[in-house]
Amino acid sequence: MFIVSGPSGAGKGTLVKAVADRVPDIWVSVSATTREPRPGEVDGQQYLFLSSAEFDRLIAEGGLLEWAEVHGNRYGTPSECVEKALAEGKAVVLEIDPQGAMQVKDRVPESVLVFISAPSFDELRRRIEGRGAETAEEVERRLRTAEVEMLFAGTYDFVVINDDVRRAADELESIIKRVTARDCGQDSECDEGHDSRDPEEVKD
Ligand code: 5GP
Repeated sequence: MFIVSGPSGAGKGTLVKAVADRVPDIWVSVSATTREPRPGEVDGQQYLFLSSAEFDRLIAEGGLLEWAEVHGNRYGTPSECVEKALAEGKAVVLEIDPQGAMQVKDRVPESVLVFISAPSFDELRRRIEGRGAETAEEVERRLRTAEVEMLFAGTYDFVVINDDVRRAADELESIIKRVTARDCGQDSECDEGHDSRDPEEVKD
């Protein structure tokens, strides 16, 4: 299971989509959220858009692998589909915030954490403002959250700087392929087992 995090505007979604189009047997989880859909977003595609009561129910039923409040809305990963994809032998990608990432890492320690970062804070601001999807207040809120999220980067197994989409997508693809090959025993490092890897070797 690959957990991809990074601040709003870092380009996680673009990179994950690019890699999912290239690598076979990848399944990208669709999160549930209480946030309102943006123009063009379709229920069940970008997110499962739920009311607050529906989200509460999902939590109460134990239907979420993790959940967190981000930018004033709740987001969570439905467990059922993740378990199904893992059972089918797929590499599962969760695009979630660091709070959720830490919850999944606790529950599934062999998960691999990848942090996507923008080259600079100014660039992050430029990208979020350039999307034109948020109000000025919402842009500031996302930038404040980004400052906190960046503090988590050092706890991730890999950090990818999205300075150029094609290059960063290549890097993410290579991480996913290397880890998958190792865990499938197609790599000599596999002989040492997953837990014995030297963190210095795997950190990019
Ligand atoms: P947005 O509202 O821009 O689509 O997403 C805001 C943030 O919510 C994303 O940057 C992502 O980190 C986080 N997020 C999306 N889905 C999930 C989820 O299922 N769980 C958690 N913990 N965070 C999520």
